[in-house]
Amino acid sequence: MTSLAIHQPTPRILAELATRGPRYTSYPPAPHFRTEFGAEQAAAHLWDIAERISAQAESPGLSLYAHVPFCKSLCWYCGCNVKITRDRSKGERYIDTLLQEIKLYGQALPGVELSELSLGGGSPNFLSAGALRRFVDGVREAFPPKNDARLAIELDPRDTSLELVDELADMGFTRINVGVQDFELKVQDTINRHQSREDTEALIAHARAAGFQSTGVDLIYGLPGQSEDSFTNTLEAVLGIAPDRIALFGYAHLPHIMKHQLLVEREPIPDIAARAVLLTCAIQHLTAAGYIRVGFDHFALPHDPMAKAVQKREVQRNFQGFTTTKGGPLLACGVTGISDTGDAYWQNTSDLEQWQREVEAGRLPIARGLALSPEDHIRRHLIYRLMCDSEVSFAEMEERFDIKFSEFFEYELQALKDPDLAQLVEIRLDQGAIAPTPLGFELIRNLCMVFDPHLRGKAPTGSTTI
Ligand code: SF4
Repeated sequence: MTSLAIHQPTPRILAELATRGPRYTSYPPAPHFRTEFGAEQAAAHLWDIAERISAQAESPGLSLYAHVPFCKSLCWYCGCNVKITRDRSKGERYIDTLLQEIKLYGQALPGVELSELSLGGGSPNFLSAGALRRFVDGVREAFPPKNDARLAIELDPRDTSLELVDELADMGFTRINVGVQDFELKVQDTINRHQSREDTEALIAHARAAGFQSTGVDLIYGLPGQSEDSFTNTLEAVLGIAPDRIALFGYAHLPHIMKHQLLVEREPIPDIAARAVLLTCAIQHLTAAGYIRVGFDHFALPHDPMAKAVQKREVQRNFQGFTTTKGGPLLACGVTGISDTGDAYWQNTSDLEQWQREVEAGRLPIARGLALSPEDHIRRHLIYRLMCDSEVSFAEMEERFDIKFSEFFEYELQALKDPDLAQLVEIRLDQGAIAPTPLGFELIRNLCMVFDPHLRGKAPTGSTTI
């Protein structure tokens, strides 16, 4: 038995302690954003960023995310903001507006360099190669790229030609991420997403041959029709492809928010005990194959920068999950995009027509947002370090925020004495640190929830924490 097997929590205990709660891709989580925060407030933050960056000898640069909401068909498990259409001309107009939005940001942040551009969705491959090239050229015009700027894109193997992959490599993209979810036909029938292992493998092999440096695959456990055996087949197929990164997400069945998810209920949805078995099975397969854990839901091969960032404690948390991007602001363009400047979050409207109207009128299309309070900064730092580093040093926090850790978090340290919560965390008073146990690592969202005062006295809501 390996040491991993000794430390891996059993499915039973995971199922027993799992609850519902935020994913903490932001803190405070997005439901706390307010409509009182709009374009005017964002403009003030952009002014601050411009000042701050111009004062830095070497700025980390800007990360830009562009959301492309179009897909040709609806996957019934989908939790994203999507517009289903086969009318490709919509993509052309969308790019026009995206470029106008990026120009607005470029005018607010003159001279700021681009460190990273990523396109997600939806399906960015809905756009033609010409539209994508026009977009990338426009971004480079608004924000001169740093020498080591990275370009990443999500691709749907069901609708991506190998010629498009070549074009993307020529535009400078070096990283692709591909949704797989599950290769089993029965599961694919249930979720209305038919995607062969062969097409996925061919796309990734072609991307590698074209010069892409990093490939990633997304998997989902907890889908209707999945069993331990069937998911093992998918895991083995993915391991055969050996992507540099794998993201393993738990299916969030929230049909009261996304009505189309009712369509997956033709097959029984795995209960919490079955989810725990699927999760444990996936963790064992991926780690046995040499993947390094990056936070609770990402895995990376040891050569990948993400795995190296784990060793150096440089992993960060943002709306894209776990990332190696550090420091600079993240601006998100397109419908529903969420920007994170460090001091504030804001989210674009989810209404496509309204987004177009606002941008065409020269206004940032912001629906809601939040400026972080000093207390939010402290809590966010702790939650992110717990998630990314699996340890929080009292001294580091005391120095960074000028607080006394044991006094500031007196309530939480007391709350962690609860027998269930105490299993999740080691409080090392002698070393002045707290660290999740192996069980707390898997249930890190449970642990982070203790430090989130918005949840006190409230019934758990949101997706399940495993
Ligand atoms: S491809 Fe992705 S974004 Fe599009 S419908 Fe399917 S799950 Fe949703």
